[in-house]
Amino acid sequence: QAKTLGRGRYEFFDVELRRRMQRRLRLEQDLRDAVRLGKLWAAYQPVVDLRSGQTVAVEGLLRWTHPVHGAVPPTEFIPLAEESDLIRQLGSHVLRMTTRELAARRASGVDVDLKINLSTRQLDDPGLVPEVEAALESTGLPAKALCLEITESALMRDSVLAGETLTALRELGVRLAIDDFGTGYSSLAQLQRLTLDTLKIDRSFVTRLGESDDAEVIVKSIIAMAHAVKLTVVAEGVENERQLELLRELDCDQAQGYLLGRPAPAAELWD
Ligand code: C2E
Ligand code: MG
Ligand code: MG
Ligand code: MG
Repeated sequence: QAKTLGRGRYEFFDVELRRRMQRRLRLEQDLRDAVRLGKLWAAYQPVVDLRSGQTVAVEGLLRWTHPVHGAVPPTEFIPLAEESDLIRQLGSHVLRMTTRELAARRASGVDVDLKINLSTRQLDDPGLVPEVEAALESTGLPAKALCLEITESALMRDSVLAGETLTALRELGVRLAIDDFGTGYSSLAQLQRLTLDTLKIDRSFVTRLGESDDAEVIVKSIIAMAHAVKLTVVAEGVENERQLELLRELDCDQAQGYLLGRPAPAAELWD
């Protein structure tokens, strides 16, 4: 009896595992096609200066509308791409597409900078720096108008290759941001050593602002620490007026979130 049950369960997991692997494999193949056929697009979310109230930048966020599954979130397909060299093509695509789009908008009077996300794997790719240089050159987007966002966890790996990439990017004149800050364990010394321009406070802290005093203390100290090493601070995920008000009181520089604007297609934002 136990033996039969055991085998049955074993087979069940086998089937389940195979089913899941097949879905991943199919999704990866579909993603590969989508990249090749240019089916991925970028939504842009405004980044607002808290003193002037002006939109100073937009963050380009990758979007994939799957023909069968509909919108697949980047939190699902980016990790998938990172498991293979697909992340390189995907990264190049985002870089070229968004710099081209933003340069065109700036030429017609939209005065905003561009922020895009880099994955860990891109940071370890020696091809990244020449690619960024080429994108700037071919579009005419000024280096200082481009900010590359790297998550705290990717920055804190202490990879030699990534260190060299960061130095070279800095030499190009592009801006660098630490994304999702607060989820890792970086020290003030590490922050200073990295010589970044911007620090983005992770949404999880912003969400709890106004709900817990703890969150307020944490956000306050992150801002103080960032300002001490001359970083511009952006709060992610601002969804209500109370959070916005508190962030202003806490001397946060910029903010991003559904309250200020959802990620939207370029045409919806500017046409
Ligand atoms: P991220 O860079 O931290 O981007 C912010 C995420 O928070 C976006 O999710 C955005 O839509 C969402 N968000 C903004 N404001 C609010 C808010 O008020 N409330 C809530 N609940 N969410 C808000 P999205 O677009 O799903 O992207 C998720 C993550 O996927 C990004 O996090 C980034 O790490 C990654 N990602 C997106 N596009 C790219 C890309 O082109 N390349 C790479 N390597 N990663 C990307
Ligand atoms: Mg980001
Ligand atoms: Mg973030
Ligand atoms: Mg995030």
